[in-house]
Amino acid sequence: MRQYLALTWIALITVLLAACSSTPKKSPSIQLNPILVKKLNSLQMPNSLPIPVARVHAAELKDTWGASRSRGRLHEGIDIIAPRGTKVFSVTEGLIADLRKNNLGGKVVWILGPGGSWHYYAHLDGHKRGLKVGNYVQKGQLIGYVGNSGNARHTAPHLHYGIYLQGKGRGVVNPYPYLR
Ligand SMILES: [Zn+2]
Repeated sequence: MRQYLALTWIALITVLLAACSSTPKKSPSIQLNPILVKKLNSLQMPNSLPIPVARVHAAELKDTWGASRSRGRLHEGIDIIAPRGTKVFSVTEGLIADLRKNNLGGKVVWILGPGGSWHYYAHLDGHKRGLKVGNYVQKGQLIGYVGNSGNARHTAPHLHYGIYLQGKGRGVVNPYPYLR
C-alpha cells in the first residue's frame, strides 16, 4: 500500500512538472507549418539582399557591425536610420516566427528565411497590421515600420537588422556586405 501511494505521488508530480514546463514557455516555432519550414530549409540563403527600409540606398548605409554597446556587448547587426514610420520590408521570403517584444529590441519581427537563416528586425514603431506568427511572407513584403522601441528609445528612429545563419540568435554574421 505504501509503495502504491509513493508511485501515485511520483506520477502526480511528473504530470504537474510536465504541465508547468510546457504551458508558459511554448516555443513559437511549434506553430510553424513543417512543410513550409522544410521548403525554406531546402532553399539557399542568398549572398545579396535588398535593403529592408524604404527609400534608403546602399551608398547611405554605414557598417555598424561590432561597435561596442552597453555592458560589454558588441553590436550584432546593422542600424539603418530612417524617419519614424518608414516602411520595413522582409529581405527574404520566410515565415514570421516570433513577434514578442523584448527589452533590447522592443517591437521586433523574427523571420525564418532560406537555408535555415533567421532575420531579426528590431526597434519597430509597430508591426504591419494583422501580421501573425506562421504567416508566410515574400521578399519585399511589408512587415512593419521604423521606430525606436526597446533600448533605442533615447536614439533617433532606426531599424536594427540582424542575420543569424545557425538558428534563432545563433551564428550571427555582419549584414552589411549582403545589402546592395
Ligand atoms: Zn542596432
